[in-house]
Amino acid sequence: MAVLRVGHRAGRDPRLTTHLALTARAFGAERMFLHPPDPELAERVRSVAERWGGGFEVVGADAWKPVVRDFPGPVVHLTMYGRPLRAVLPRLRLAGRLLVVVGGAKVPPDLYRVATYNVAIGTQPHSEVAALAVTLAELRGIPGRGRWPGARQRIVPSARGKRVVPARRTGGRP
Ligand code: SAM
Repeated sequence: MAVLRVGHRAGRDPRLTTHLALTARAFGAERMFLHPPDPELAERVRSVAERWGGGFEVVGADAWKPVVRDFPGPVVHLTMYGRPLRAVLPRLRLAGRLLVVVGGAKVPPDLYRVATYNVAIGTQPHSEVAALAVTLAELRGIPGRGRWPGARQRIVPSARGKRVVPARRTGGRP
């Protein structure tokens, strides 16, 4: 599973797009294509992934259309104007590889045409981070401990406080 973020404004959206990348990673995507590229942001996410494990990467894309055109699977554009997620979920669950596309402040009109599915998470405007999290959680569930090979640290879930311990390099229980 991959995510494409279009319309990133380097210098204006760094926190939002970083949260988008971290959400993509935490909910099981393997990479996020970022248009236009932002090497500083990609490096920040890489250093988080190094500590917390898994193979997630942010890949800069000078143009978004080739990413969509060359992707070997269905392309799901998240937009409040689309069809309800529940209507397309059965077909999406059957797809081996999926590209989930989210927009920014402005969305290129062509995206509605080239996407395999235009999909809405409710019919109200909210956020690309929320839309992505709901979609990935519905599609694949929330990854468990076994999903993070190479992690240097892991969280021990606690009722109160924070507990972080060194991780075994082979990964943990799923
Ligand atoms: N003005 C933009 C437009 O033309 O759609 C809205 C941008 S919105 C701030 C940023 C992104 O959040 C959208 O491109 C979409 O990916 C996502 N988004 C926001 N609300 C959504 C919803 N209800 N369903 C699915 N995606 C949503």
